Amino acid sequence: MPDDLLLRLRDFHSDYFPLHQQRFQDLVAQGQHPKTLFIGCSDSRLVPYLLTGAAPGELFLVRNVGAFVPPYDQSHGLHGTMAAIEFAVLSLKVERIIVCGHSHCGAIRTAYEGAPDEAVALKAWLKLADEALLPVQPSAEALRRTEQRAVVLQLERLMDYPMVRRAAEAGQLSLHGWHYVIEEGEVHVFDAAQGAFVPASLASHSGTGPYQPYVEHDGQVLSDG
Ligand SMILES: [Zn+2]
Repeated sequence: MPDDLLLRLRDFHSDYFPLHQQRFQDLVAQGQHPKTLFIGCSDSRLVPYLLTGAAPGELFLVRNVGAFVPPYDQSHGLHGTMAAIEFAVLSLKVERIIVCGHSHCGAIRTAYEGAPDEAVALKAWLKLADEALLPVQPSAEALRRTEQRAVVLQLERLMDYPMVRRAAEAGQLSLHGWHYVIEEGEVHVFDAAQGAFVPASLASHSGTGPYQPYVEHDGQVLSDG
């Protein structure tokens, strides 16, 4: 009796693929040209393709615990997230980078509560949230604020990547900070002008980071398309 996962693989091949075959083959023939780098938390409840309605070929994805961006450094270490950012910006020339955190994030909670002693890499990794932590007991409200502060912190770190800063300052790249509230089914986007996260239903754009102000033109705020 085939296992459940094997059955799903067969379903993909027999049911889904035939309906979208041309798209996949075009993506092979023409290569991928995603316009978006999506840096998201690894949490299983965060499904980037569902949130954005993206099709295959549209999102270049990096996922890690917490949706963190390590500080830019040139120590030539094995930094998977750094490598993905460099590849997305320098080779794929993406036009936007989304950093997407979410409600009830285990990474943020663990940053307050501490990881198991054996989780050496996790402990070190979670330090990337240190600057976002609040000097309070981690109530539900404090956790949510911390999740949002962590997103902004990662946007700031992104701007320390020379290729990101260069592209952003040239107007070729915009940074988007998102906080996905799982139980409400809504993404709150970081609005740099307000310094706050705004529900997508009320927002006038999908959010830009603190160092990429909107283009003002005749008093109109232009989205990045
Ligand atoms: Zn998370």
